[in-house]
Parts: sequence; C-alpha cells; structure tokens
Amino acid sequence: MKFINLTRHTEIGANSYYLEIGDQRLVLDCGMHPKNEGDDALPNFKAIADRSLDAIIISHSHQDHIGTLPVLMRRQPNARVFMPEATADIGATLLHNSVNVMTRQREELGTTLYPLFTHRETERASDLWRSCPLRQQITIRGERANARDKDSLTFEFWDAGHVLGSSGILLRAEGRAIFYTGDVNFDDQTIAQSAVFPQDEIDILIMETTRGDSATPPGWTRATEERRLGEAIVDVFRSGGCVLIPVFALGKTQEVLAMLYKFRCDDVLPDFPIYIGGLSSKITQIYDRRAHMSRRQLSRLQLMQDVDPFILNGENIGDTPARPGRVYALSSGMMTPKTLSNIFARRVVENPRHSIFFVGYADPESPAGILRKAKPGDMVSLDPEEQAQPVRCNLQQFQFSAHASRESLIEYAKKVAPKKIVLVHGDPPAVEWMRAELVADLPGTEVIVPTPGVEMEL
Ligand SMILES: [Zn+2]
Ligand SMILES: [Zn+2]
Repeated sequence: MKFINLTRHTEIGANSYYLEIGDQRLVLDCGMHPKNEGDDALPNFKAIADRSLDAIIISHSHQDHIGTLPVLMRRQPNARVFMPEATADIGATLLHNSVNVMTRQREELGTTLYPLFTHRETERASDLWRSCPLRQQITIRGERANARDKDSLTFEFWDAGHVLGSSGILLRAEGRAIFYTGDVNFDDQTIAQSAVFPQDEIDILIMETTRGDSATPPGWTRATEERRLGEAIVDVFRSGGCVLIPVFALGKTQEVLAMLYKFRCDDVLPDFPIYIGGLSSKITQIYDRRAHMSRRQLSRLQLMQDVDPFILNGENIGDTPARPGRVYALSSGMMTPKTLSNIFARRVVENPRHSIFFVGYADPESPAGILRKAKPGDMVSLDPEEQAQPVRCNLQQFQFSAHASRESLIEYAKKVAPKKIVLVHGDPPAVEWMRAELVADLPGTEVIVPTPGVEMEL
C-alpha cells in the first residue's frame, strides 16, 4: 500500500492524503490552506499529477478538508466523490461562500488565479457527490458492500464527534483495515456527542494531532469551563462592555449559541442580544434542520428560533457599533483579515471595557493566534493594510476545542494498538510530542511522521 502526504509542510494546512491499495487510487480529504494564497493554498496535487484517481473521500466540511474539492474534481474527472450526508449539505454552502471570498481576493491580491473555482463549477461538482450514511460498508463503485466484496476495497464512515457531519473513514482492502480519524473529539461538546470509533482490528491508523503540544489543565471539565464563560460574560456586561468571540462558521458558532442559550435558561444571564455572521446563520439552519437526524445533545433545540441571533454581514458590519451588553460570535475563528471577526476586533481592541474571548484552535501566526498571545499595551497588526493598534481590551482564553485532547488520542491509539500509526494534521511541536509519546507507549507499533510529498510504502 502506498501513501503520500499531500500537505505542503508538516502542518494543519490543506489536508489531503493519497492512498494506493492494489490497483485502486484514492484521496482522503481535499482542503484549502487557511492562510496561504493562490497555488500554495492547494494541496500538493503535483505529487499525483500522473495518476488517475478512482475515488475522493471527504471526512468533514471544514475548509481545511473540503476547500479545494472542485479543483481536484476538475483534474480527476473519473474519480467518484463520497462524503457523509450532513457533510455534503454543509460543504456546498461553504464552497459557495469560498467562491465569494476568492472573488473579492482576486482584486485585493491582484491575482488572476482567483477564484480557484466558480459558483457554477461548485454546483456541478456538488451534484456529483455521493452522500453516504454512517456505519455502512460501501464499495469504491458506490454500492453497498456484500459478501462478494470481501476482498475488494470498501470504506465506512464513523461519527467523529467534531462538528456536524464529521467522520472517521475506515478502509478495508487486501485483508487489512486502515482507519483515518479525520478531525475527532472523544469528549462530548455542548451539541456534538463524543466520537464512536472502531476499537479493534485496525492495522494502520492515520491520526490527527491538533492538540499534541498542549496538556489538558488538571481538573478541566466542559461543565466548569461553561460556567467560567458564563461568569466572565456577566463581568464584562457589568463593567459596560461587549464580548467578541471569534468562531468558525461550522461547529464553534453552533456550540457557542447553545452555551449562550443555556446561560439564558439557567438565569446565569438575562436576555441579551447575540450577533452571528451570515454564513454562520446558513450553517446553523442546517444544524436545526438536521437536529433530529443526527447524533447530538439538545436535539430539540432550534438555534435560529430559540436563540434568535441578529445577523451581520459584509454590508452592515461597517455600521455596527460595539454596544455594551452584547455578544458578537463572529467568524472567522482565526480572525483572517477582512472577515467579520477581524473587522469587529479592530473596533474593540483599544477599548478596556470590551473583551475578546478565544474558545478554540487558531494558527499561531493568524491574527487570532497573535492577539491571544498579546499583553496589555502591545501593538498588534490585525490587518496588514490597516494601522497597528495597542491592545487595551480584556483578552481571555477558554478551552472548548472541538479536537480530541492529546491524552484521549494516546488512549485511543493504545486501545487499538495498530501495527502502524501515521501522524498528520498537527503543527511540528504537536506531531513531535505525539510521536515520542506513542513510541514509548506502543513498542510494537511503527510510528510514522510522513514527509510531505514523498511516496512511502505502508
Ligand atoms: Zn475540522
Ligand atoms: Zn482540520
């Protein structure tokens, strides 16, 4: 079996992995880099340019996993494309939004490469996607596997507990089982329930390592962290400020809305206005529509109706002042320049009454990553085209990551005890910590950090 890591560095970038099993060729995930631009935002497709793919399988619809799928489909017209049902629903919405963002960037960056794909191409591409139920063994031809397919390549989606539609992908071929975790969470979140993953008979485990460089603080529980967030919002409101929470449109927005809903119900906070972005509201509607069809907590909660957030967008964000007593849960989570959270942050960062709360992962070099490490009085540049500003607002961190703790990843790997573990989806310190720990804990397992772009035999 051959494997190529198609990310350009050891990083959480444009996630994509090539596998060749017998005469079948497939790609797992097809992301867009959250920071890089132009060709550098794509996975390293050059490494597989002369090979014709049979299938592309997508684990979930975060930009770093699905963001360049229309490009790969254009280059690989014969590949069948598979993903879980909810992922297909959300993926089309996100890719159309990405076309709008890239169209704007075409002028800003002065690049004719953008948009990398169009609305029409996205529509045609999504028409060809085959959406699959969880826990069903499916052949690479897209049929439900039966006894005759015992020896052929099949795949099966398992609930990854990360965001709506997220899944791990179990491949079976040549008498071996390969399991790709995608992005996973082994703990319950406020909406998402913890992952249900296969527990044994995995030969090769391809595992994410996002949180490999940070230990879970002793005594941390989600319930106490929720309480801490509620109390922190009360404090900010009392001192006459507002709270900005930078969030991903998919996942973190809905988790934050559900927490704010609970604060209102439990009288932690009185009724107060909540703002989210337009893309977030579209994805929240998908969460609501699928509430009864998906494994989740609070399945009767209809976020758009019960929380009733106000919607901000590129047109009205300019005239929206930061008003006290309000929570602005705006994307993007990394505060990428020109996004709602970035524009709004520049409005609150110099005001000591206001607060910015960080609730999840941010690339250390992204504006959110830079700001969360800033000290009072530091000058920060949130947008290279705007003036740097002094940090005077209150900054706080909360641990509501949608990714598995490193302790739970190690525990899972030890339970499964595969012959080989391939470590992906992590910054170098995270991958290195996981590698060292796994080598020590699992002497019978080969632990591999795949060099980007290099074909290897698994
Ligand atoms: Zn993700
Ligand atoms: Zn990811």
